[in-house]
Amino acid sequence: MDTVQMELLTTREFVAAGFTAAIIPLGACESHGDHMPMGTDGFTSHALAVQIAEQLERTVVLPPNFLGMSGHYRHHPMALSLSSETQTRVIADLLESLHHWGIHRVLLLNAHDGNIPSIEIAARDAKIAHPEMSIATIDWWVVTNQRIAEGTFDVWAGWGHAGEAETSLGLALFPELMQMEHARGQVPTTDPHVREFWLFEELTKYGASGAPKHATPEKGQAIVDVVVDYMVPYLRRFEDHGLDFHPEDEPEP
Ligand SMILES: [Zn+2]
Repeated sequence: MDTVQMELLTTREFVAAGFTAAIIPLGACESHGDHMPMGTDGFTSHALAVQIAEQLERTVVLPPNFLGMSGHYRHHPMALSLSSETQTRVIADLLESLHHWGIHRVLLLNAHDGNIPSIEIAARDAKIAHPEMSIATIDWWVVTNQRIAEGTFDVWAGWGHAGEAETSLGLALFPELMQMEHARGQVPTTDPHVREFWLFEELTKYGASGAPKHATPEKGQAIVDVVVDYMVPYLRRFEDHGLDFHPEDEPEP
């Protein structure tokens, strides 16, 4: 198989590959400050998905999704936003298409916070409608935060929109699109335990929160390695038999 990217495959190649699983890369199109492209989230989720699938045998990567729910990022030029309802329908329709063609194991690889509610609703509804489906999702920053070596990031644990971690990913995945001479961010104070709803202009006066000037390609490659190294074995099990929770009786007290 020459490629895992669905949009590049012919029908003959697609059928011959015998795909049993798919990755849906989810992004957005919105300002990522003056140093990253607006399509950052689509580029990031797609590049990670391709790197993962290239190490697998039967997982296809759907085309990059460059639109997401970006209403809370609309202060800065520019953002294209789907409503949460539209984004939920987009994801639901993709899941339905995969189900129709017999691909029942799907990973939603997300790179944009505004997509989280839509992923949750669409995935739950598809699972209820089609119990034979195995559906899972990851946000790259969650697996990164939990598994990356302590001390990797200098500021705010790497957090932020176009911040230290995301900017590092850009330097690793699409360096030709980065303009680091224009990088600048602000670090807001948010509560670590309570989920607070903000508009992005409340967090920073720039298009970036966190500390993008602290980004490096090495930190970006460390994030890529964490995500790819964790997801390849996970999806190998997925390709073989989908989700399998094999419950056992609790141990006796
Ligand atoms: Zn982003």
